[in-house]
Order: sequence, then C-alpha cells, then structure tokens
Amino acid sequence: FFVVFEGGEGAGKSTQSVKLAAWLKLRGYEAVLTREPGATDIGMRIRTLVLDSGGDSAPGPRAEALLFAADRAQHVEKVVRPALERGAVVVSDRYIDSSIAYQGSGRDLGKDEVAWVSSWATGGLKPDLTVLLDVEPQAGLHRAKAGGTGDRLEQEELDYHERVRETFLHLAAADADRYLVLPAAGTPDEIAAAVREAVAQRLDI
Ligand code: C5P
Repeated sequence: FFVVFEGGEGAGKSTQSVKLAAWLKLRGYEAVLTREPGATDIGMRIRTLVLDSGGDSAPGPRAEALLFAADRAQHVEKVVRPALERGAVVVSDRYIDSSIAYQGSGRDLGKDEVAWVSSWATGGLKPDLTVLLDVEPQAGLHRAKAGGTGDRLEQEELDYHERVRETFLHLAAADADRYLVLPAAGTPDEIAAAVREAVAQRLDI
C-alpha cells in the first residue's frame, strides 16, 4: 500500500508522514517513511543540486524537471518498489503530483508533459492514496520560513505558489477516489486522525 502526502510549502507534510508511519508501526505494519527529493544517495545529491544552486548555476526549468524525475526514478527503483513488493506500507512526503504542480504549472512546462516524464521515470507506479494538505500559499510560506530551511524554490513569487496550489486541487478533483483533501488549518492531531481513518478504511483495518 502506497500513501503519498502532497501540498505546498509549510502544509505539514513531514509532520503528518511521521505520525502516520508511527501509527502504522503500532498497528504491526512495516511502514517505510520516505520523501522526495532526497531519499537515496543519488537523490540527496540531486536535492542539493536543485535546491542549493543559485544564480547562473541554477538549473533551467527543463533541467530542473528532469532532475526531479531522476530523483524519483531512483527513489522508486531502490526504495518504493522493493518495499511494496515485500508487503510494507510506503509513506512518501511528495511524489509525482509535486512535479505536475511545481514544474508543470509553476514553471509552466505543461502538466501533461511533466506527468508523462514522471510516469516514464516510475514505470507507471501510482499511489493508492494521496493526501493533499491544502494550504493557502501566504500562510504556508510563512510557516515554512519560520521552520527555517529557506531553499531557492520557496523564494519563488506568490503567483508561482498560487498556480501550484490550484494544480494540486485540480488533480485531486479529477481523481476523487484516490485523494483525501484536508485543509492544513486543522490542528496536527485532527489532521492525523482524518488521515488514519482514510488509511484504515483502505487497508480494511
Ligand atoms: O518538501 P521539501 O521542502 O523537501 O521540498 C524541497 C523544495 O523543493 C520545496 O521548495 C519544493 O517546493 C521544491 N519542489 C519542487 N518540485 C518538486 C518537489 C519539490 O519544486 N517536484
């Protein structure tokens, strides 16, 4: 079973992934907590390349999209598929929808093209459930900045983050059975409880 958390900056994805994985372990599941970009050695190097290269060394939009796709290909091959094959539940902080939203809409590369690149990179592996933590960009960016990573992509203009949010919401609306959309305004415990309920229902526990 493959669960993905998606959402903009400061939506609380990492907090919620940790909580869900801990709960799954309590219930006796092998839970593999992972994230994009950066879950593998190569992924960590790609993460540094993409997030820390500024000015003239910053990748162009297509290079950026391919770097995220390369990270994802390695992630799926080395972490996600092996875990799913041995029956683990995989909980990932970001997956394909982040690329469709950030590179497809944010960078304007086209949602379908970016979706196609990701689908090729992953051999078509789709999540069983995607939890979208929906946050209004201004509030999320404020939270993310307070958290203090401040990478290059968080500094894109508000418009960029608005396009990202709209795209996440469209993706969720187009495939409502596979998505749970939760406003990030709830308390972490309220959100965690709603996530657990959706996961329990799908795992039939
Ligand atoms: O989720 P996390 O904070 O680790 O993501 C790192 C940065 O990479 C964020 O600023 C996020 O917006 C960006 N990102 C992106 N495209 C992706 C995945 C993440 O622009 N496909």
